[in-house]
Amino acid sequence: MIIMMNTTSPDSIQRVVEKLKQHSLDAYCVTSNGKTLITAVGDSAAHDSDLYERMSGVEKVVNILTPFKLVSRELKADDSLVHVRHVVFGSPLIPVIAGPCAVESPEQFLETAQLVKAAGASMLRGGAYKPRTSPYSFQGLELEGLKILRTVSEQVDMPVVSEVTDPRTVELTLNYVDMLQIGARNMQNFALLKEVAKTDKPILLKRGLSATVEEWLMAAEYIMAGGNEKIVLCERGIRTFETYTRNTLDLNAIPLVKHLSHLPIIVDPSHGTGNWRLVTPMARAGVASGADGLIVEVHPCPEEAVSDGPQSLIPQNFTQLMTELSKIAAAIDRSV
Ligand code: PEP
Ligand code: MN
Repeated sequence: MIIMMNTTSPDSIQRVVEKLKQHSLDAYCVTSNGKTLITAVGDSAAHDSDLYERMSGVEKVVNILTPFKLVSRELKADDSLVHVRHVVFGSPLIPVIAGPCAVESPEQFLETAQLVKAAGASMLRGGAYKPRTSPYSFQGLELEGLKILRTVSEQVDMPVVSEVTDPRTVELTLNYVDMLQIGARNMQNFALLKEVAKTDKPILLKRGLSATVEEWLMAAEYIMAGGNEKIVLCERGIRTFETYTRNTLDLNAIPLVKHLSHLPIIVDPSHGTGNWRLVTPMARAGVASGADGLIVEVHPCPEEAVSDGPQSLIPQNFTQLMTELSKIAAAIDRSV
């Protein structure tokens, strides 16, 4: 049950919280769009909504049966818009985020940024802290990488997203990026989710390698319950028995998540396939399935990339992809 208050008066909120306690319900307060929402959880949470509706300061009470409450479509029927500087996720205009898997050098990142901007991308990506399977693989340029991200982002005037892998580096990273990425391997790193929830930066929350849609939405719930409602979900493929592809891109998740949640959702066809030949067709499919954006790995010279070269597009193929996406978007009354 979610109790929506039409006041921020601490007394009214306290009276509701006390009443919930009397009914053995736990109360969690969060402010959304200047309004206080009280999430009540417990065995009898669906009962007595009339009682709470009559209390002073209460606007309405919504009974939500799914375990995720604040991110649920039942709570908010309208699509949420998430702004990353001038870029908007969740509107008919579909933003494309592009850039290398990892920031390798100032030259590599600037060259890629200029090329993807010329092709029509609206935002940059680049990893400074890389979560690698092997401790012997390139781990990212860390602070030096963050500095390159900021400098280039300003040079080309495009917002930038980068991954945080550790709660201890969140505060530092905030100074350099416009959006924080929670990678697939950290989708259920609850300490990290709670840390990014305390910031006011938009969060790109990738789906875990083996996460169900419900687990993924519960991870988003952690961020929202912690006070940050600027969340964009990202489908990046899940592990299946198939070995020809790196992951299986679950495009079912796009219309499903849009039905279950008001949050915008984007598609990552690069990690979703692991193979540059499949990236363009699956990017097209992502837009056709209703995604609110794409994130694509692009490298000026993929054979020299320090990570994810096999799934990175050369700039020429990225330019071609952008042209093709425009046609798909137009067919569903959207634009790229
Ligand atoms: C990445 O974006 O480079 C990355 C590591 O993504 P994921 O967490 O989806 O594997
Ligand atoms: Mn990558």
